[in-house]
Amino acid sequence: MKMKVFTTPDAMQAWAAEQKKAGRTIGLCPTMGALHEGHMTLMRAARKACDVVIASVFVNPTQFAPGEDYEKYPRQFEQDCEKLEKEGVDAVFHPEPAAMYPKGFGTYVTPDCNETKVLEGARRPIHFRGVATVVTKLMNITRADRAFFGQKDAQQVAVVRRFTADLNLPVEITMVPICREESGLARSSRNAYMKAEEKQAATVLSRSLRRAKAAFDAGERSAKKLVEIAQEELRKEPMARVDYVALRTFPALQEADEVLEPSLLALAVYIGKTRLIDNVILGGKA
Ligand code: AMP
Repeated sequence: MKMKVFTTPDAMQAWAAEQKKAGRTIGLCPTMGALHEGHMTLMRAARKACDVVIASVFVNPTQFAPGEDYEKYPRQFEQDCEKLEKEGVDAVFHPEPAAMYPKGFGTYVTPDCNETKVLEGARRPIHFRGVATVVTKLMNITRADRAFFGQKDAQQVAVVRRFTADLNLPVEITMVPICREESGLARSSRNAYMKAEEKQAATVLSRSLRRAKAAFDAGERSAKKLVEIAQEELRKEPMARVDYVALRTFPALQEADEVLEPSLLALAVYIGKTRLIDNVILGGKA
């Protein structure tokens, strides 16, 4: 069956309703496009778990603050469609911003919880409101039974789990492991902003996480020490400017002195002008 492309919420919702009527389960993979192998791991997980896979490709304006990279964010819808079709995705939802936020739009989902206030939330105050609003809309539009998100954005997974639980949304959330390049660099659409030399320097993010993980595996449980180990490695790369390195419980994202339950070691680092994030989950099952 040829992959369907929908550009309006009504058309997407009507098609999804037909699928539901036929008794099929629907998996949603929200993306902002400029698709890479990392996105494809989401599609594959959804393909395995659900009868129908819907990918959304939408650069969501409400999750970008003025001065962030909304305008410059890469857009390449035709190439994206080729990749999605190869993965056996059934339908793509690709609306214009005006279709998602028509004149008069005024209802936002604003998670008011610890998960949105720390790490990325502390630096990007409107980001998770935008994410929660668009993800709720996408879930309603696609009638998703399950939605798939990458550990690359682990805090986003924590936030989505929080607001879907708080609002009793009937959607099961699956987190898919981080997909990396051979160099260790986590795949990201924003990697396209970097020159070859910067991409090489960016491997310091995963290296620092690996070092901290090795210390954890060898028995280190002090949050302070694990953060220090990561920082020490980051300092070796002159092109890296650290925004934060932090250890928090996962998924509650509470502070902890010791790693006694699943914990997220997360970092945000500038390489040149590009801001990159990466993380590792230490201990337990997240
Ligand atoms: P984005 O298009 O960057 O908004 O990402 C869409 C989804 O793909 C999010 O759930 C991301 O966490 C996920 N994703 C992006 N990069 C990766 C990666 N390298 N590995 C796994 N998932 C990823």
